[in-house]
Amino acid sequence: MRVHLCGVRGSTPAPGRDFVRYGGNTSCVAIAHDAAHVPVLILDAGTGLRQVTPLLAGEPFSGTIVLTHLHWDHVHGLPFFQAGDRDDARVTVLVPAQPDGADAAEVLARGMSPPHFPITPHDLRGRWTFGTLEEGPAKAEGFTVEAREIPHKGGRTFGYRVSDGQSVVAYLPDHCPTALGPGPQGWGEYHEAAVRLASGADLLIHDAFLLPEEIPALAAFGHAAADYAVELGRLAGSRQVLLAHHKPDRTDAELDLLAERLGTRPGVLIAADGACIQL
Ligand SMILES: [Zn+2]
Ligand SMILES: [Zn+2]
Repeated sequence: MRVHLCGVRGSTPAPGRDFVRYGGNTSCVAIAHDAAHVPVLILDAGTGLRQVTPLLAGEPFSGTIVLTHLHWDHVHGLPFFQAGDRDDARVTVLVPAQPDGADAAEVLARGMSPPHFPITPHDLRGRWTFGTLEEGPAKAEGFTVEAREIPHKGGRTFGYRVSDGQSVVAYLPDHCPTALGPGPQGWGEYHEAAVRLASGADLLIHDAFLLPEEIPALAAFGHAAADYAVELGRLAGSRQVLLAHHKPDRTDAELDLLAERLGTRPGVLIAADGACIQL
């Protein structure tokens, strides 16, 4: 499969000259089958979703968007997805089943409807359908997508394990392992759901919002340290670890320092908008 990194920033977009190399778009990853020329599975719909339209080279999107959770930085791209918002598009949106039983379009519309936004999810053009996912494996666009609930903050959050039968990508952009305890290094617990999702993955895309020294002050906001992601990948036998969901004020220069400290280890990569990883 081909994994296109379309948005790797966390929490809120980060425009400006200090953010041009790693990019400022929020969470979005687009996945294409090896033999296909366009992506059909999209993980999260942050502002990076706008970068999927050029990948489709004028064609309408026909595929599935799977959301890890419903925070702004994972949904704000939905109404700006031109390849999906056209009469000939087909888009299935799947969100974690909500504890209150709300249906998917209804829960999305809480943040995407007047007066917050001019239109609702049902006003998007084309054939859009909305559904919920429970934990466990599901099929989407020729991929197996396995969902497991992981700790974050404020709303049910899933991590995903996506397989095409040959390669596996694990996707945990928002993950707060310290919510379950400090773990051996103080970076959080290497709990069963996280290890299962990352187990033997060819690529683990993981929350690297924090540095270890920021954990005491900032972990309560719901994120992980980059060092946790690297260690989770090692424990779970992931072949490559991609550090993502960068803190919005983490500049290119600061991410270069992270790359010098952790990116020199075998298989550890720092996520940058626009990159494409072949698995
Ligand atoms: Zn996020
Ligand atoms: Zn979040």
